[in-house]
Amino acid sequence: MPEVKAQPGIEQITLYEGGLTSVEGQSNVIKLSSNENPLGPSDAAVEAFRRASFDLHRYPSADHIKLRQAIGEVFGLDPKRIICGVGSDEVLGMIAHAYAGPEDDVIFTEHGFALYRNWAHASGARPVEVRERERVTDVDAILETCSEKTKIIFIANPNNPTGTMISETEITHLADHIPPQALLVLDGAYADYVEGYDGGAKLAEERHNVFMTRTFSKLYGLGGLRVGWGYGPKNIIDNLNRIRGPFNLSAAALATAEAAVRDQAYIEKCRNENNRLRAWLAEALAEHGVPSDTSLTNFILARFSSQAEADACDGFLKSEGLIVRRVGGYKLPACLRITVGDESACRRVAHCIGQFKAGRS
Ligand SMILES: *Cc1c(COP(=O)(O)O)cnc(C)c1O
Repeated sequence: MPEVKAQPGIEQITLYEGGLTSVEGQSNVIKLSSNENPLGPSDAAVEAFRRASFDLHRYPSADHIKLRQAIGEVFGLDPKRIICGVGSDEVLGMIAHAYAGPEDDVIFTEHGFALYRNWAHASGARPVEVRERERVTDVDAILETCSEKTKIIFIANPNNPTGTMISETEITHLADHIPPQALLVLDGAYADYVEGYDGGAKLAEERHNVFMTRTFSKLYGLGGLRVGWGYGPKNIIDNLNRIRGPFNLSAAALATAEAAVRDQAYIEKCRNENNRLRAWLAEALAEHGVPSDTSLTNFILARFSSQAEADACDGFLKSEGLIVRRVGGYKLPACLRITVGDESACRRVAHCIGQFKAGRS
């Protein structure tokens, strides 16, 4: 046994696995495994990234003021209450480090995002998983699980990998009834896909116990750049800034994200295209006997009759050069998570699943 030991919890962390990017023997694959925007970022964002290459010798801004102002203008939020991180992953991690520790409970749901458990372990806290109701967050079950030990409740709304969401009434009910020492964190990675939903911004604005996270990785098409942000009570933002690395975001990342958020015409186009193709894909799969819950995101959770069938379909799709996401690790072994790609990718994946199902009946 080595005598130099990591903090409790660290060795219990299971490394996060990103979506596969290649299949052996296939050169022309379509990647539908990481919920990326198939259209990529806006031209204005790409241009900002290019321009940033002329200033690589300069340190970036430590306070991210220009990006926070741009986000504030676009979303109608107070820039003083925004924090930017290396993806929303970093913001979620900072929350866990600052607000949970040994003897504390961190709550998340049965099919919740994998990193919540890891951030709980990393802060030495106890991860506590709460059952869902038919792949939907169950607010009552969460409230029943809360105790005087609960410090953080992580909820993705809409959730990944289920694609489902709960209403603002339910979220408000939750915020109203959690114990006084608990912080409700609303992960809005997919909120941009839901027209008319603010991701929890208003609640985070009004309450001392609600915090919201958002990302540039999904609808904004910048997963490779690593930019996310959080919004919440000023005292929480101040504490996160105390533990944040001062130069966590590169100058290129800051400038590119700023240009991306200002190009809302492009974002609207991407949202409309995604939502149109999502409806088409869900219906096409249903016609082939593969049901899914109504998704409010940029992916569909396709349900098969068994784990064996899901595995076989995944294998068949791979042989056709289509990479989707296995979600056995999310306790959904009979499902495959399929990102809504561009039109031809949607047609191809629907066609192949149809072929697979026809071959089995
Ligand atoms: C993709 C995703 C994130 C964000 O990841 P970043 O790239 O780190 O911003 C956060 N939560 C959920 C549920 C996600 O699916």
